[in-house]
Amino acid sequence: MPGLRRRCDVLVAGAGIAGLAAGLALARGGLRTVCVDPAPEAPPTGEAARAVALLPASVHLLRRLGAWDDAAAAAQPIREFRFSEAGSRGAAPLLRAADIDAPALAWNVANHVLRRTLRAAAATALTRLQSTRITSLSRREDVVLAGLSSGERVSARLLVAADGRQSATRREAGIAVRRLGFGRRILSFLACVPSQPPDVCFETHGHGGTAARVPLPGGRVAAVWALPGVRAARLLGGGAAAVAAAFGEFAGLPPGGLRLQSDVHDEPEQFLAARRLAGRRLALAGEAAHGLSPVGAQGLNLSLGDAAALGALAEAAAGGGLDPGGEELLAAYAGNRERDMRARTAAVLAYARLAGLEGGFASRARGAAARTLQGLPQLRSCILRAASRGSWLDGGGERPLPQALRRTAHPQEMQEIRP
Ligand SMILES: Cc1cc2nc3c(=O)[nH]c(=O)nc-3n(C[C@H](O)[C@H](O)[C@H](O)COP(=O)(O)OP(=O)(O)OC[C@H]3O[C@@H](n4cnc5c(N)ncnc54)[C@H](O)[C@@H]3O)c2cc1C
Repeated sequence: MPGLRRRCDVLVAGAGIAGLAAGLALARGGLRTVCVDPAPEAPPTGEAARAVALLPASVHLLRRLGAWDDAAAAAQPIREFRFSEAGSRGAAPLLRAADIDAPALAWNVANHVLRRTLRAAAATALTRLQSTRITSLSRREDVVLAGLSSGERVSARLLVAADGRQSATRREAGIAVRRLGFGRRILSFLACVPSQPPDVCFETHGHGGTAARVPLPGGRVAAVWALPGVRAARLLGGGAAAVAAAFGEFAGLPPGGLRLQSDVHDEPEQFLAARRLAGRRLALAGEAAHGLSPVGAQGLNLSLGDAAALGALAEAAAGGGLDPGGEELLAAYAGNRERDMRARTAAVLAYARLAGLEGGFASRARGAAARTLQGLPQLRSCILRAASRGSWLDGGGERPLPQALRRTAHPQEMQEIRP
């Protein structure tokens, strides 16, 4: 209602998947939370063609938030990861859930399913305002005041920027970002691949590209292809069917072995890292804070780590009578998330670089790395355990939270990411 002042503890800018998860974690942690998003209620076009592979720690968090059980029926467990070089026959098993006695390495779920489940869980936990823009913002010593396009005014003690890669909230706070790209594009689409086992993820490397086929229920796969920009433009010029045929050939599938089931989406492959993850009464989360290449499937998993940390911050604030937008909790949040962001960005950068190298030497180097991994079960299990853990995700809520926040607030030095 115009002129009305709505009081809450946290205002979250952005109700995408990361913003919804963050809002839900804050609300479950005991803080009154409002999420605003200028997008209409209808999900973004093309979302049905997108999927995310969620690591066990992310699933654990979503379950704790009450946002997993309905998604689980539509999620495909991935139990094995196979790897091949373009043009070679067959794909070698690289990682298996059985190596760590886990039920799955990850669960692949369509974005629209995850968004629907998060919205349902959020319905009774927080206030979500779609088609609503923040028109004015003032972050003061003790409060955040926001004017909304509906005419309402909101006062909060903490503002969370979860408004995506182009975050206006981050810009308003004057927080710069580092960006890195290799001139590659990401083409993504859904397809049907009848020959693909339902619980195996395939990845093919070569010619500067990486093609992943991540299984979904019903014999479908989410196809993601990172490839040099010039080649992507040439393929796109031939239409979606040409992209699908070239993908199938690159991945070593027989002619007609892959049937396209959606439009093809095209976007730049870009890494992004905010120089600070907190400011006065402000925390950055999701792709407003960091962006990764889809190669390695870490982006949303990292964002769910932000949500878990915000949940811990909320519990510390609500349970200990602390100010959720106070310097102490925000410094601890930023320290924890910078450490995770740096580690995962470095790992995905290294992987995307190795995967994207061209030529026989690069191909032999990848083969040697894969053979080393195949021959060292302890290394495999170490990698798998590290990948499935999240610094805040496993039992974080059971620790005495203010101490846990302090203990993790010592970021390591990060390598400079140059544009
Ligand atoms: C092809 C592909 C495959 C991927 N696969 C994986 C995977 O397997 N595993 C994985 O972990 N990750 C994966 N990712 C990454 C993952 O999809 C993204 O990290 C995630 O969807 C981004 O969510 P977000 O909420 O941070 O951003 P967005 O989805 O961009 O949401 C931002 C929201 O903010 C809103 N907004 C914009 N401006 C404002 C404003 N001024 N105020 C308020 N709100 C605003 C927008 O309307 C939007 O709703 C993949 C990405 C791609 C492209």
